[in-house]
Amino acid sequence: MTDVLIVGSGPTGLTLACDLALRGVAVRVIDQRPAPHRESRGKGLQPSSLEVFRELGAAEPLISTGNSKVVLRKYFDGAHVNDTPIDAGLLIGQWQIEEALRDRLAELGVRVEWGSSLAGITQDAAGVSAELGDSTVIGARYLAGCDGGHSATRKLLGIPFEGSAEAEPAMVLGDVKAPGLSRDVWHQWFTSEGAGILLCPMPGTDTFQLQASPEQDEHGELLPPSLESFQRLFDRHARMPGIRLADPTWLSSWRVNVRMATRMREGRVFLAGDAAHVHPIAGGLGMNTGIQDAAALGRTLAAALGGPAGEEVLDGYQAQRLPVAAEVLADTARRYERVLEAVRTPGRGTEAGLD
Ligand SMILES: Cc1cc2nc3c(=O)[nH]c(=O)nc-3n(C[C@H](O)[C@H](O)[C@H](O)COP(=O)(O)OP(=O)(O)OC[C@H]3O[C@@H](n4cnc5c(N)ncnc54)[C@H](O)[C@@H]3O)c2cc1C
Repeated sequence: MTDVLIVGSGPTGLTLACDLALRGVAVRVIDQRPAPHRESRGKGLQPSSLEVFRELGAAEPLISTGNSKVVLRKYFDGAHVNDTPIDAGLLIGQWQIEEALRDRLAELGVRVEWGSSLAGITQDAAGVSAELGDSTVIGARYLAGCDGGHSATRKLLGIPFEGSAEAEPAMVLGDVKAPGLSRDVWHQWFTSEGAGILLCPMPGTDTFQLQASPEQDEHGELLPPSLESFQRLFDRHARMPGIRLADPTWLSSWRVNVRMATRMREGRVFLAGDAAHVHPIAGGLGMNTGIQDAAALGRTLAAALGGPAGEEVLDGYQAQRLPVAAEVLADTARRYERVLEAVRTPGRGTEAGLD
């Protein structure tokens, strides 16, 4: 039996794994993916997250690759309006954050077990049994569900995920090359009708993270993300005929989802990160909140494993983190509304979400 089974090797699960391994706790980390991804996804690390990574010994590769001097270049209806330096912590791709944490975890003697999917949970006073998709059973004293917004852990425990979710995507996303486009600034093109396209140069790569209002067909139906659609959106908003987007390595779409779990603990099982709360990306708080959840859960589990764990110790985690999740949900929803409003004004952009 291991001390803690961590389900999910995103930023939350890996932070928790490093934290516990450093404290000498026996951990196993499973992930349903066959292998690590290379998607830029969450790309803003706040100083408080960097501080956690410093303590874990995982910050150095991120600081040496990431960009802490980000400038937003705003265009309106195709014309360059202004450049705005922002203080958004460290800009770095999520896959690089996960890689740095995985490398640190490997130094501590733990490797992610890929292709292992949680399918069932049973628990009693002594521990938890996790059944995997291939019917293997892993026994642990505690289980941490860090398995993202569609969390199997949360669903298996029957914990409600309350809030609202929009039916249609608000944004298409991807990682693309854009030869000839300056990599010194984060380009943000907006138009008077509130639509736009953003291309952010991702440090340590030759790609940009693209975010755009989805394209519609002649019946008003939203088109799925594709290189062809990205190029048409770019041509319409950026009006730079010489730039051809190329080599997409990630294509996705994003819906506004403002939801949180009603509790973060059920007996010996805990939820952390997106498994417990999902919200708009304005202000870049999703991954950062998960990293702080992981730091708090690491302290709780270490205390529980170090002595007789009273209910008070185990409930301390959700007593601390549930109110934070509720506040972040409300805060990011407000930030998202501010960004939608701001981008209709020439010279304004996503910095409205940082105010
Ligand atoms: C375009 C974009 C920009 C963003 N920008 C920011 C930003 O600037 N700052 C920020 O803080 N956040 C940002 N976010 C949000 C951020 O990406 C998420 O909040 C973050 O990924 C959550 O991390 P997590 O570890 O909790 O979950 P995830 O990253 O979703 O990881 C969950 C892991 O669990 C695994 N898993 C799922 N189910 C199972 C199962 N049954 N068994 C085993 N494994 C399983 C998955 O394979 C996955 O690896 C952004 C997101 C997007 C899309």
